[in-house]
Amino acid sequence: MVKLNGRVAIVTGGSRGIGAAIAKELAANGVKVVINYNSNNEAADAVVQEIEQAGGEAFAAQADVSDAAQARVLVEETINKYGKLDILVNNAGITRDRTFRKITEDDWNQVIQVNLNSVYNMTTAALSHIQESDAGRIINISSIIGQAGGFGQTNYSAAKAGMIGFTKSLALELAKSGTTVNAICPGFIDTEMVQAIPDEIRAQIVAKIPARRFGMPEEIARGVLYLCRDGEYITGQQLNINGGLYM
Ligand code: NAD
Repeated sequence: MVKLNGRVAIVTGGSRGIGAAIAKELAANGVKVVINYNSNNEAADAVVQEIEQAGGEAFAAQADVSDAAQARVLVEETINKYGKLDILVNNAGITRDRTFRKITEDDWNQVIQVNLNSVYNMTTAALSHIQESDAGRIINISSIIGQAGGFGQTNYSAAKAGMIGFTKSLALELAKSGTTVNAICPGFIDTEMVQAIPDEIRAQIVAKIPARRFGMPEEIARGVLYLCRDGEYITGQQLNINGGLYM
């Protein structure tokens, strides 16, 4: 088991939903957390406040992680503030759902840029620092849609499957060094992303989930905690947290 006290993490897209839950869970376990946000500084500040009130340490840092230069600045800010980096959680993501016939080039490019290229941008900026840690962790928040596909989600599915391939290849390259690289594949989790789905479709989805409910962001956060604290011999894996929807 790795002592998390004093370790430093970046959580991309950490101001709400799954990212905010991950930031809070890590902070509650002694990790200093950089909460990256793209536009909503009020939401990011609220997460920082909640963490501080609970006795943890965090700061909010603006960056569009789909932009390589901004990703580099985010990592530099982290090093300037905390002096090191142990954990990178690539969580930022968007959907632009349309059936393939209706998808525009822009829908395609944006989803690949934000979900997949951001993982390259952040990992390449952070890697030399993470490798200095005795328990480096890279955790990519992929999706069940990257494993099973999703109607109207060719762009998102391609990006999330790309994250899984990236995870396995980088895990192979880094395994000897003690840095682990894993993907978490959530099923349908009750966040704004899923709340945006029309009620009728949401009901159809729940009916297909063996657990008969959406997951909670905290249930993904506990998976991240597990990989960070207990996961020294777990690398290149997909941790499925989906209520049994995909096995
Ligand atoms: P969300 O929309 O609530 O949160 C996504 C976060 O990413 C937001 O804070 C957003 O501002 C941020 N973000 C978007 N583009 C960004 C950019 N360019 N730079 C920095 N931040 C950016 O969604 P969520 O449900 O919390 O999703 C979190 C992650 O989990 C995403 O990668 C998503 O694809 C994945 N996921 C979600 C579900 C689900 O059911 N909710 C299922 C599987 C995977």
